[in-house]
Amino acid sequence: MSNTPTKADVPWLGVIADDYTGASDVAGTLVRAGMRVVQTFGIPEPSMQLHDVDCIVISLKTRSVPAAEAVEESLAAAHALKSWGVQQLYFKYCSTFDSTAEGNIGPVADALRNEFVSDGQVTVVAPGTPALGRTVYNGVLFAGMDLLQESSMRHHPLTPMSGSNVPRLLQAQTKTLVGHVGYNAIEAGAAAVQAHFQALSTASIGYAVVDTLDDRHLTVLGAALLDHPLVTGGSGLVGGLAIARGSRVQPESARVTRPAGPAAIVAGSCSEMTRAQIDTFRQSRPCFLVDPVAIAEGQDVVGEALDFARKNMEDGPVLIHSTASPEEVSRVQGQLGRARAAEMTEESLSTIAEGLIRLGCRQLIVAGGETSGAVVRSLGISTARVGREVTPGVPWLTTEADDELAILLKSGNLGDPRLFLDAWDHDR
Ligand code: ADP
Repeated sequence: MSNTPTKADVPWLGVIADDYTGASDVAGTLVRAGMRVVQTFGIPEPSMQLHDVDCIVISLKTRSVPAAEAVEESLAAAHALKSWGVQQLYFKYCSTFDSTAEGNIGPVADALRNEFVSDGQVTVVAPGTPALGRTVYNGVLFAGMDLLQESSMRHHPLTPMSGSNVPRLLQAQTKTLVGHVGYNAIEAGAAAVQAHFQALSTASIGYAVVDTLDDRHLTVLGAALLDHPLVTGGSGLVGGLAIARGSRVQPESARVTRPAGPAAIVAGSCSEMTRAQIDTFRQSRPCFLVDPVAIAEGQDVVGEALDFARKNMEDGPVLIHSTASPEEVSRVQGQLGRARAAEMTEESLSTIAEGLIRLGCRQLIVAGGETSGAVVRSLGISTARVGREVTPGVPWLTTEADDELAILLKSGNLGDPRLFLDAWDHDR
């Protein structure tokens, strides 16, 4: 395997992530592979100084906004990354291919391809992330043992997934032809994969959905993609790309330290794992439920939540959540509408997070991709150093502002049921 030399002090990889927890997931995967990673929230200022950084991950909140907005922001992020000299762009979406009816995976990938890929080169589409139980077999995406469309993703409040065939899901979002490279080809090695890419591009096919059954497949793909200016996928494939670049064991001195102090969890994710994590936490620590309908009726839910935190945070972590069952979410959406329910919930949880920081909170877990986007924006966090993962895809971040905060952004389905109890002592 040939390692492309990386210029010292120039990050080789620039990631554009379509949500904040997905960005943390990819950043944590890169740290696990020995890379030094900075994560930004929104598009950083061109004057941002970079020292000792291998990879930059830009977190956007473009998964469920109108497609044109997602395209515009993603292109701006790509230009910023190019201005830091990155050699390879990675468009990161969810390993469960979370999309609205309009996209946004297809439109964003099309725009990036248009600008950064020379005619004829195929662009890989690799949602599969075996470490998280997301595998792609014959183009069909599985979440654990379930077809995507039969997994809990069918109930997602914003991007319910009713299909599992990735080429078909993507083809509905783009005019560029979508093809597929099966696991047999991938098991035959990087050269065989490249030959398949070539055959697809000769047939005027622009996207290659790749099977990924285990991490070996990601390693082969990483080697096959070394010279691709644009790669798209879930968090899994960046691990393969890092190995192909010659990932290393991070020295102890590169370890990111994080502040200690009062701790809280804010959860807007309604995913099954978040619900299990809340049920486990509730058995030993206090929780406060935020009801979107009560907010709509003008009740001071934010004030009540902060009173609750004031009374309980000194004794240990507290949890404030809007998390509810699929039936309850449908009821709320029926009363308020899907978009308004999400907007009001995200806004209230963000105001609560701001209040928590004012109350002295120094360690904050946020559960939910959209929720994390809203909270991080309202806290005004712009960059963070990425520490080690608590569990695959879930690293602690330390903000780079003077008033340091340890923040952990957890995507709905990640982690195990004890995460909200166990994350605090991890790697201290
Ligand atoms: P995940 O990472 O699990 O997908 P997200 O935060 O991305 O979580 O998405 C959950 C969405 O559901 C958010 O927009 C949130 O505001 C919304 N939401 C949270 N609680 C409720 C509720 N009780 N009723 C309706 N919508 C809700």
